[in-house]
Amino acid sequence: MFDYKERIRQLRVGLEKKKCDAIITSFMPHVRYLTGFSGSNGLCIVTHAKVFFLTDFRYKEQIRNEISCSRSFITSGELIEKAAEEKLLRGCRRIGVEKEYLPLAQYLDLRRQFGSARFVPTVECVELLASVKSKDEISRVAKAVAITDGVFGEILKIVKPGISELDVSAEISYLHKRRGAEKDSFEPIVVSGPRSSLPHGRPSSKKIKRGELVTVDMGCFYNGYCSDLTRTVAVGKPSEEARKIYSIVLEAQQKAIDFARSGIGAKELDGVARGHIRSKGYGKYFGHGLGHGIGLQIHEFPRVSARSAHTLRSGNVITVEPGIYLPGKFGVRIEDDVVIREGMCEVLTKAPKSLIVV
Ligand code: ZN
Ligand code: ZN
Repeated sequence: MFDYKERIRQLRVGLEKKKCDAIITSFMPHVRYLTGFSGSNGLCIVTHAKVFFLTDFRYKEQIRNEISCSRSFITSGELIEKAAEEKLLRGCRRIGVEKEYLPLAQYLDLRRQFGSARFVPTVECVELLASVKSKDEISRVAKAVAITDGVFGEILKIVKPGISELDVSAEISYLHKRRGAEKDSFEPIVVSGPRSSLPHGRPSSKKIKRGELVTVDMGCFYNGYCSDLTRTVAVGKPSEEARKIYSIVLEAQQKAIDFARSGIGAKELDGVARGHIRSKGYGKYFGHGLGHGIGLQIHEFPRVSARSAHTLRSGNVITVEPGIYLPGKFGVRIEDDVVIREGMCEVLTKAPKSLIVV
């Protein structure tokens, strides 16, 4: 059981700083973070004195033993209307809303129901809190990572000439569940040969051929928390060029892992891997950020990119995933999940990283 009271306490400190009397969220990963609710429709209101939770009839049973809040409400109507009817925001003049996630329809509803209040866009309020993981949260991520590592081991046995990308991706989803995951944390990416230069290509009916590189990017949810793993493997003997690119990506990834610790900028960490790839002449073929936070969501705060202003904190769980993509030829990406600690990072991913030839 997580310490929801502590989460709420810290959130209130954040609200105080923004001079908000309350925050309202319907973004499910945040609702879950603040109350424990794992359903798909809900609204959470945190004031300085109370935590309110609203949902619909479908979850009446579920919330009995799942939820942590001061009071919960079930309604068959609109959640915001119910919040107004129950006067849950009485006396709140400045109300924080999550501009990145609040649907326009709900915002308009809020304006209609609470016309006299001011709505203040909060950015990185719940995100910042949720980015620092507790021991329990980290152990859930670690378990999700272990499941995905195991799936990778099994996938190596079926990646061969003649099997299609879609078949491999179907196996990944199946094996995740067989190994105890709730579901994939995103649609698995399986791209082969020239298609491997598509960083986020969808698996297709293309059959894998001898001599090709295959990139698989996959992850699962375990108890609400995500894993995210990428490996590029060679089917049959890889070309000299493929070997060279693979080792540049691997070196870049290892350098970033060696540098990762609390107190450094996410931007600096990105720069370590990017600098290495650039020094080898492939800078323009690494077009995405180095990584991202993982937790209740597959892509969450903080971004680890050249544009990030975040300073890494102990307890952040991020991916480290440099890649080089040569259009029309092939691509290589290697991705691990790591926990930021003082003076170092802990690598959760255990799948092997030297170039595997199947
Ligand atoms: Zn990934
Ligand atoms: Zn990722």
